[in-house]
Amino acid sequence: MRPPAEPRVPQGQPIYRGRFAPSPTGPLHLGSLLAAVASYADARSHGGLWVLRIEDLDRLRVVPGASEAIQKTLAAFGFEWDEPVLLQSTRLAAYESALEQLQARGLVYGCVCSRAEIAAQSILGIDGPIYPGTCRQGLPPGRQARSLRLKTTAEPILFQDRIQGEQGHAVAEMVGDFVVRRADGIHAYQLAVVVDDAYQGITHVVRGADLLLSTPRQILLQGYLGLPTPSYAHVPLVLDACGRKLSKSLAALPIDPQDPLPALRLVWRLLGQTPLSGVKSVQSFWKVAISTWRIERVPPRLSAPLGIRPLVKAC
Ligand code: GLU
Repeated sequence: MRPPAEPRVPQGQPIYRGRFAPSPTGPLHLGSLLAAVASYADARSHGGLWVLRIEDLDRLRVVPGASEAIQKTLAAFGFEWDEPVLLQSTRLAAYESALEQLQARGLVYGCVCSRAEIAAQSILGIDGPIYPGTCRQGLPPGRQARSLRLKTTAEPILFQDRIQGEQGHAVAEMVGDFVVRRADGIHAYQLAVVVDDAYQGITHVVRGADLLLSTPRQILLQGYLGLPTPSYAHVPLVLDACGRKLSKSLAALPIDPQDPLPALRLVWRLLGQTPLSGVKSVQSFWKVAISTWRIERVPPRLSAPLGIRPLVKAC
């Protein structure tokens, strides 16, 4: 006998809670729209909830007004979030308490090393210099700790990404002991994202593939803090006309909140979904999109930045 099909819309408390977590460092661009559309369509097609978190911890990179602009653009593109927006800048006590837990278990240590010292002592891994563990056994005499680092393990951390397939690496080998509180006192993204994904009850993370290499660090932290690990899906990166990653600081032009449909159609196509027919408004886009979304169709990589030139500056 075949097992009964999973109900598409779960009854009662949703078992799916998705999120979008932009950093307010500039306006929304095509790459972030792609991640937002994928995460929203996946959440809604599972009858799930979707929440918005503004990752505004890095005061030096936050652009005044960007958080409001991102929210306005998302609303113009038809996104609806189910809970009040969570600002990471209001969550510092939660990050401190996570650090205290790690400290109590001897899992973090102070580090005096500057960027230049690390660069001089380390070999370069695929995600920057691999910290050689200089301060793990104690600080050099007369020097004050600047940052806090997490003790990592050589055990491989494996996970099944819903788009990228089987993934994993040993964090100790790939990045080494990584920073959880920076020298300027700001809690690191890796720590904050883990604490907040758990706080917001996130069950499914759908985000850009630039964060694929961060995921084992986050799973390691979840294990140390006794927090659940959500399911992960990393959408392909949108490259600019020169094949470089499209980032807010590089070749990205903001998308136009006055005219959302062309960008929505474009990201839908880039996400490998079936062509939309009869879509003339943002509302009808989402109706069709949510009912036809299949994550299995999303390509792990985008082969060429074809057809995105009008939205991306030339190199
Ligand atoms: N705030 C990060 C960014 O804008 C995304 C973090 C995440 O989705 O985990 O790139």
